[in-house]
Amino acid sequence: MMKNKITKTIIKKTKIHGNGIFAGENIPKGRRIIEYIGEKITKSEAEKRIKEIDKKAKTSGIKGAYYIFELSNKYDLDGNVPYNKAKYINHSCEPNCETIDEDGKIWIAAAREIKKGEELTYDYCFDFDVDEYKDSPCNCGSDNCIGYIIAKKDRKKLLKYSQPIKFFCYSPPI
Ligand SMILES: [Zn+2]
Repeated sequence: MMKNKITKTIIKKTKIHGNGIFAGENIPKGRRIIEYIGEKITKSEAEKRIKEIDKKAKTSGIKGAYYIFELSNKYDLDGNVPYNKAKYINHSCEPNCETIDEDGKIWIAAAREIKKGEELTYDYCFDFDVDEYKDSPCNCGSDNCIGYIIAKKDRKKLLKYSQPIKFFCYSPPI
């Protein structure tokens, strides 16, 4: 029962990016805080929507925002609906929340104990893409911030990529 208690949260401006969600009370580890809700769509529909947003962003000059949550290799969840409060949760390189799939429902749950007033964050799990990673800078401010929104599993790829490549030349004796 504890797990499904409604948790008090507050939406307000944050240092990380735009609006964020803050804990309105102390939250124990493991509690489901908020459900990520939206419209269940196919991958091809999601791609279409992303392309449309990119197109609009190019003509208006304002960076577009999408809230597509990957459900499976067939379906995505478009969280860009007014009733989805969870879309305001920012990414962090050291998040205090995690996402849990419970019978097809996506929950943002406390990955550790969270103190009242802390901003809620989770790992957006963006794959590392050489051509696109610079479009998503990270301002999470954590000690281990890598500077871009990249899934934890892919962060090593960025480090490898940004390291200068050293060439050792060996001239064989004539
Ligand atoms: Zn960061």
